[in-house]
Amino acid sequence: MTVLVHPQALENFKVRDFQMLIDGKWTNGSSGDVIERKSPGHGVVVSRYQAGTKVDAERAIAAARVAFDTGPWPHMTGAERSNILLKAADLIAARADELAYLDCIESGKPISQAKAELGGAVDIWRYAAALGRDLHGESYNTLGEGTLGVVLREAIGVVSIITPWNFPFLIVSQKLPFALAAGCTAVVKPSELTSGSTLLLGEILMEAGVPSGVVNIIVGTGPEVGAPMTTHPHVDMISFTGSTGVGKLTMANAAQTLKKVSLELGGKNPQIVFPDANLDDFIDAAVFGAYFNAGECCNAGSRLIVHRDIADDVVARIAALSAKVKVGDPLDPQTKVGAIITPEHLAKINAYVRNAASSGATISHGGELLNLGMGQFMSPTILSAVQPEMAIAREEVFGPVLSVLTFETLDDAVRIANSIDYGLSAGVWSRDFDTCLMVGRKVRAGTIWMNTFMDGASELPFGGYKQSGLGRELGRHAVEDYTETKTLNMHIGSRKVVWSVN
Ligand code: NDP
Repeated sequence: MTVLVHPQALENFKVRDFQMLIDGKWTNGSSGDVIERKSPGHGVVVSRYQAGTKVDAERAIAAARVAFDTGPWPHMTGAERSNILLKAADLIAARADELAYLDCIESGKPISQAKAELGGAVDIWRYAAALGRDLHGESYNTLGEGTLGVVLREAIGVVSIITPWNFPFLIVSQKLPFALAAGCTAVVKPSELTSGSTLLLGEILMEAGVPSGVVNIIVGTGPEVGAPMTTHPHVDMISFTGSTGVGKLTMANAAQTLKKVSLELGGKNPQIVFPDANLDDFIDAAVFGAYFNAGECCNAGSRLIVHRDIADDVVARIAALSAKVKVGDPLDPQTKVGAIITPEHLAKINAYVRNAASSGATISHGGELLNLGMGQFMSPTILSAVQPEMAIAREEVFGPVLSVLTFETLDDAVRIANSIDYGLSAGVWSRDFDTCLMVGRKVRAGTIWMNTFMDGASELPFGGYKQSGLGRELGRHAVEDYTETKTLNMHIGSRKVVWSVN
């Protein structure tokens, strides 16, 4: 039985109204329309945003262009920009509870998790601030007596940043501070479902001293506001996180004007477990990896690939632990699995589970939509007897649904892991170091966890192989991603004539 945490009504709650930030001014959208966001856990409107249009997107891009071409930001010293970013980090930390609360009620994620994400985000802003001071190029003093080569790193220009609803504040924090540290200006579009904390970030950045026009934040649907951000000739780079489908569209749009593209897309991440693994550690990590953020996570460990000899035991133990996971009110500090983002998304998850069952998979735990009196919730669900060719084993469900497959040999496990289009992350569990390293080297994914799952650090690059994306975020090269390289080829002394016409 799932442990239920029934949501409490949001009494005396005051709906928050937000405007957009364009060229340093808070402004209404050109249409006058408003987007209302309902809390997925409580079913009531909690936020109202201005519904932006193409016209608003173009105003924001124009402001970012002017700020880049004529404003002070790209010309400040690394130390000056870094100090502003550090101040922003302090202000984020000071308003962390407010930001976490917004993410919780707009996305349905548990409040304890939202607070932890804010802590992670503060660390990323500080890390980006430090990297910005160290941004440098190269020099070549080995090209002969008459030549000195210097390779400069220059800010790439105007960056469009498009983010999804599953980690509203964390994902914008994996992009924007690095772009700013490099000296870029930006237009940011959060998901229309969870725009609140990104708009508050606009207030924070203005207070920290980011000049007008450097960061513009607009709200609206992807096709109306996001699309022009991917096609406009005055945008130099796009940094996108979301579905693989929209990622491909973004890349095709960017191709029209050859913009640089950074894409963080979907995943169907395997955890491979061998019989000699520490199963106590693994069972906990399997449950955490599958249900964290209600499975609405590109990094979710949604595909267990378990050695046949231990499969029955593993499924029984995961089912027993799943039954203890507290599901319900995102605002309750005890909750581990909150609400599902929208009723439509819940229906999509449910359809995946029903289709898997009718294709021969066994529902070993859960599989129910939960009626908690308000909002939309789903029980943690385990599907066993899943075959590698089933849709449930290959496609991103983005819900609290774990698929269990089996293997006999290491090569078998690696083949199953690599048999799908995604390659974001993977886990391997064994007490044998050789086994972990062999699997780690053979699985095609951007991150491989060994005897752990979904740990992260600002220092460690994150991104996908194959259709999970292009490029890497975080890590020491993250600021460089927002730069162009320029070669200065300098001649010393009088130049030898090589092409003279007499
Ligand atoms: P999308 O890819 O549609 O949304 C991500 C962002 O892109 C949002 O800001 C969205 O705007 C915007 N967008 C949508 N269409 C366009 C467009 N034509 N041009 C530019 N921007 C656009 O993801 P969904 O929210 O629809 O989720 C669908 C599925 O995607 C999920 O079920 C999951 O499988 C996957 N996903 C993966 C994520 C990841 O972290 N890798 C994150 C979110 C989803 P808006 O939503 O405001 O219209």
